[in-house]
Amino acid sequence: MLRVLLLLPIASYRNQDFLDAAHKLGVEVVSAADHCPQFAPQRGLSPILSLHFDQPETAAAQVLASLGRRVDAVLAVDDAGVELAAVLREKLGLPGNAPEAVRPTRDKLAFRQLLQQNGLNCPAFHHLAGASEARALAAQLHYPVVVKARRLSASRGVIRADDAQDLLQQVRRVSRIQSGADRDAGALGLIVESFIPGSEHALEGLLENGQLRVLALFDKPDPLDGPYFEESIYVTPSRLSSELQTAIADSVQRVCAAAGLSHGAIHAEMRVNDTGVWLLEIAARSIGGLCGRMLRWRLGMTLEELILRHALGLPITQPEHSDASGVMMIPVPRRGIYQSVMGLEAAREVPHIEDIRITTVPGQRIAPAPEGASYLGFIFSRAATPAAAEAALRSAHAKLVFDIQPDLALAKSTAR
Ligand code: ADP
Repeated sequence: MLRVLLLLPIASYRNQDFLDAAHKLGVEVVSAADHCPQFAPQRGLSPILSLHFDQPETAAAQVLASLGRRVDAVLAVDDAGVELAAVLREKLGLPGNAPEAVRPTRDKLAFRQLLQQNGLNCPAFHHLAGASEARALAAQLHYPVVVKARRLSASRGVIRADDAQDLLQQVRRVSRIQSGADRDAGALGLIVESFIPGSEHALEGLLENGQLRVLALFDKPDPLDGPYFEESIYVTPSRLSSELQTAIADSVQRVCAAAGLSHGAIHAEMRVNDTGVWLLEIAARSIGGLCGRMLRWRLGMTLEELILRHALGLPITQPEHSDASGVMMIPVPRRGIYQSVMGLEAAREVPHIEDIRITTVPGQRIAPAPEGASYLGFIFSRAATPAAAEAALRSAHAKLVFDIQPDLALAKSTAR
């Protein structure tokens, strides 16, 4: 029986989908989690617990000491475990991206340096080692710029600044967000880069011997101009011209080659304007949240099954398809405590809506970007055209009414 070591972060949306895919393929799972034994007992998994995914070398030693029998693949379910997975594969002699290839994809500053060193499209960027340097930098910049935390995801800690005074304010805010979310915040500092205008897109791909296979190219039809950049709708296939679609795939392929990424799933985000394709990031993992579920029909299997098959060398056949599909990451409208949702049934009845998943639980504290990094849930659509798939998402969303109560504990602490 094939065995896979899955790195399961407690907060991931995707643990269950990976476990289901492994179950379907009859693959034995060894789970390694950053927290409690949430998934192990009922699935008969042998768990390795309490790993610090952000300390890959220490965590790898811990895993190797507990692993026992050989595994055939190591996969990170989400961003958090990507570097640890690479370190483990290297130590176990399994195929996959080397840790040096993965590292620049986990750090927005290192990623910009990679683009610059390889002569690829890259906005002007600056490393801000400490907030005290912000005043001097503020005077030199051409605005607007984007201030970013270095290692967070889902647009957490990413804010546009429009002038010098705004910059100082946003640097303070992003520093606060990063300090609350990354134990290395003090050493990391922030990155400040020029704002790239244009439309935004994303590419889901699979690398095999360094060759990129595009699984899907997405349009993000809502303008993402800031000051905050909360994601909402993704629709595939893209409505861009085939020339631009090829240019995007070429850029992603070039950056993967420059980084040394050669194996497995990648997810890339980019902006496109008159001057070309501008990569925002490439992650050595598949699309986050539950968004991958929109690809089931296109792939003829779940994205998680495809990734497992690839990692284990099992055959992958993709069907012909013609439909468009879309997902909306339901934005958090305001900070507070989520109570309930009304209108779900009516929203599910909207033509072309395939599914709606509310992933927030009653009583959960929620916050929009740039402080928050999660969504209220996901709406999935499938239709004959991208426009119809997009329209269905918008009308389903319009039927949902969320009850979000003020967070009194927060109000008290800010009033103090
Ligand atoms: P994350 O990994 O948190 O998603 P990104 O660097 O991809 O961080 O930024 C999140 C979003 O912020 C992007 O999807 C984009 O909309 C916006 N963004 C980031 N950098 C820029 C930039 N230089 N110019 C314009 N928009 C940007």
